[in-house]
Amino acid sequence: MSKRDYYEVLGVERGADQKEIKKAYRRLAQKYHPDRNPDDDTSAEKFREVSEAYEVLADGEKRAAYDQFGHAGVDGQAGGFGGGGFGGAGAGGFSDIFGDVFGDIFGGGGGGRRNPNAPQRGSDLRYNLELDLEDAVTGTSVDIRVPRHVECERCDGEGAEPGSTKETCPTCNGHGQVRMQQGFFAVQQTCPTCHGSGQHIKVPCHKCHGEGRVRETRTLSVKIPAGVDTGDRIRLNGEGESGVNGGPPGDLYVQVAIKPHPIFQRDGRHLQCEVPINFVDAALGGELEVPTLDGRVKLKIPAETQTGKLFRLKGKGVKPVRGGPAGDLLCRVVLETPISLSEEQKELLRKFQESLGESNSHSPRKKSFFDGVKKFFEDMKP
Ligand SMILES: [Zn+2]
Ligand SMILES: [Zn+2]
Repeated sequence: MSKRDYYEVLGVERGADQKEIKKAYRRLAQKYHPDRNPDDDTSAEKFREVSEAYEVLADGEKRAAYDQFGHAGVDGQAGGFGGGGFGGAGAGGFSDIFGDVFGDIFGGGGGGRRNPNAPQRGSDLRYNLELDLEDAVTGTSVDIRVPRHVECERCDGEGAEPGSTKETCPTCNGHGQVRMQQGFFAVQQTCPTCHGSGQHIKVPCHKCHGEGRVRETRTLSVKIPAGVDTGDRIRLNGEGESGVNGGPPGDLYVQVAIKPHPIFQRDGRHLQCEVPINFVDAALGGELEVPTLDGRVKLKIPAETQTGKLFRLKGKGVKPVRGGPAGDLLCRVVLETPISLSEEQKELLRKFQESLGESNSHSPRKKSFFDGVKKFFEDMKP
């Protein structure tokens, strides 16, 4: 049983846009939905077919792979659906139905249902990259070392030592799959002798030990665009694992995380920092030196500045990677209590304290705090 063309399944043209594909899928999914057609195997199969077609055509990458390589380009990628019966060993129809159930038990993730000699796209890889805030804001170029599987050069990915020959696997007669009886069910299993290739390698390649692929570590230079943030991904086309049987390579995704910064906290395009200030400057007003990512700037503090007050420096934040204006730098001033005072300085403070008198008129917070406390106890009275 060979698989139907995905466009044909959804009844759309090859050039159909995402809206048309979605519309066609909705209509068919509603028609064949198992809830509407209980105990109807034909509908269940149609529903599965429609869902599979949609999963591929709705995804730009998968659709492109499908357009180029047909089912072979997306088989094994379409989530839980697997690729039943591709040019297969003659019993695809059976494993199609039970594949979802038994795929997990036998040979994992549908490996037993796919023609093992068909081209397969290589796996995508993920690389976690930690960046300093400064580099993330200005953009940079980073060399990363990526371990991955590539085709073995010695045997051209064949797995057989050059000069030696492959022969048909005696266990499965070249089918790549064997039938097994499990209680009431006959199930297909990947041939344990040849692991599904249908071929038996007499002399395995010395370099890759018959795998056809070897692990190598490559150094890649990755351009980091200015403004990236934690959670952003950078895709490097074709830098994933190499494909199998001539399939295209997967992609490499560089997953960005920004390291904590000793001064700045980032909140999207805005930055925050705390700036200590002594109580004389806070009371009389003054000028502070504030750090920004491109050097120090002066910040005027008005008289009677309270601790915790936020000052906004427009445009001193981060220019977002997806465009738009730069964010702001929010400086929170924190009042510092003086330490290591001399006797003379302490005396001055005592005199200063006396000059304030008993009144709270110089302490706005204290005043409202004690007003609040007074009201709290009054409210408690029966
Ligand atoms: Zn075999
Ligand atoms: Zn090799």
